[in-house]
Amino acid sequence: MRNAICTFCGNACDDIEFDGFVGKNLCPLGEAKFSAKQRIEGPVVNGERVSYEEAIDRAVEILVNAKRPLLYGFASTVNEAIRLGVILAEKLGGIYDQCSSVCHAPSTLAMIEEGIPGGTLGQAKNRADVVVFWGCNPVEAHPRHPSRYSVMAKGFLTKGRQYRHVIVVDVRKTATAYLATEFYQVKPGYDYAIFSALRSIINGHEDAVPDEVGGVSREKLKEFADILVNGKYGVIFYGLGLTHTRGSDRSVENLVKLVQTLNRHTRYIIQPMRGHFNVVGASAVAAWEAGYEYAIDFSRGHSRFFPSEFTAVEALIRRDCDAALIIASDPAAHFPKRAVERLTEIPVIQIDPHPNITTLIADIVIPSALVGIEAEGTIYRMDGIPLRVKKFKETEYWSDYEILKLMLDKVIRLKGE
Ligand code: SF4
Repeated sequence: MRNAICTFCGNACDDIEFDGFVGKNLCPLGEAKFSAKQRIEGPVVNGERVSYEEAIDRAVEILVNAKRPLLYGFASTVNEAIRLGVILAEKLGGIYDQCSSVCHAPSTLAMIEEGIPGGTLGQAKNRADVVVFWGCNPVEAHPRHPSRYSVMAKGFLTKGRQYRHVIVVDVRKTATAYLATEFYQVKPGYDYAIFSALRSIINGHEDAVPDEVGGVSREKLKEFADILVNGKYGVIFYGLGLTHTRGSDRSVENLVKLVQTLNRHTRYIIQPMRGHFNVVGASAVAAWEAGYEYAIDFSRGHSRFFPSEFTAVEALIRRDCDAALIIASDPAAHFPKRAVERLTEIPVIQIDPHPNITTLIADIVIPSALVGIEAEGTIYRMDGIPLRVKKFKETEYWSDYEILKLMLDKVIRLKGE
């Protein structure tokens, strides 16, 4: 299979050549995913092997009898399955939440307040002569991003590394910082103040800026602002180093305002560095179906969005959910201790191709086909570009779509339309 898509990180590299599970052009992260030998062998209910139909029957029984089940995950599956997940949450009167709620949710909140001056990775590759990485480290988290879309990419108008100014802003010297033309080491939690300082300088009010902001001198900030303003086309990529520090969504809002200020002089876009290959789909599909991207509660028969109550972590810690369906995700490995403790107290159903920590606490485990090799569908790359992932290997495993479709049919039969 040529031009296959790597279904690991938000880059969704679409130039992979697969021979079985071995792929050419994969980075070490992609290679590790596709060469992982260990699969969940078959559906299991309370430690006993059963058929897919039996496992789904038992799962539906738990979900229908729960007062408010949590449906969580979705960032590593296709849009068609995500859509069924949202509908299932609605029919069950439960909560739909997805992996964004523990990563780029502050970007969603900032977007609601300020909008997003966005673009595509293609624009970054072809046009950008200034590339900023703020609180993100693509060399380690999205290893082919620098060569395909940003630092070294050869575009139509910007022909390669020597034509680009690459700036890294972070609290420590990351692997990406070694690729940079300029590295600004900032104090943790001062991003908001630095954005404000840069906006003041660009607006001609540099006298209002103190001698030092967030560990960066005013002179350095003036140099930084000069580079930004003198770029013909700039892209600011940002990551969890911004969204998960002090200020959170307010910091992202201030970054959007900085980009708006820059756009009075030149052309800039921002792009969150999204983690899982279809975390954008987990937001977008929920927004089409229910009007919100994450933390959606259907317990009153209509969708309600309230992040401080309806994210998976909050709902678990508040003991608001009495069953959980986890799809293509591993919350037991990533959630805070109290949320994981609650997961151990309620019935948990897991759908995933590979065993992980959540498998250890799940009552029902339903293995699924690997998206992009054994199952097809539509995904959104980190910049929102839709891509079709293909199936090129027959398998006994059911796809997430097939599993959720049967679950939904059974729920509708039991609860009505
Ligand atoms: S950068 Fe991401 S999408 Fe590309 S090959 Fe590596 S893991 Fe896969």
